[in-house]
Amino acid sequence: MAPLADTARFRTNDPDVLVSASLACPVCLRGDGVERHPALDGYDPSVECGCPRCDVRWRVYLQPLQALRFSLMDPG
Ligand SMILES: [Zn+2]
Repeated sequence: MAPLADTARFRTNDPDVLVSASLACPVCLRGDGVERHPALDGYDPSVECGCPRCDVRWRVYLQPLQALRFSLMDPG
């Protein structure tokens, strides 16, 4: 099965809560408790996410400005 992949939909001036919402679990649609493993340095910045409730993993691809915005988020 191909891993789930998505493109982030938040705008760079959105508040943290909307940035988090764009990384929510595609199965249960919850953003809290989602594990995030950012890989923002590469050519294709992305955040690998995992939902421990649903045991599902997916990757969200970011535009460069979104990657910058994400890196400014409060961790957790
Ligand atoms: Zn879930």
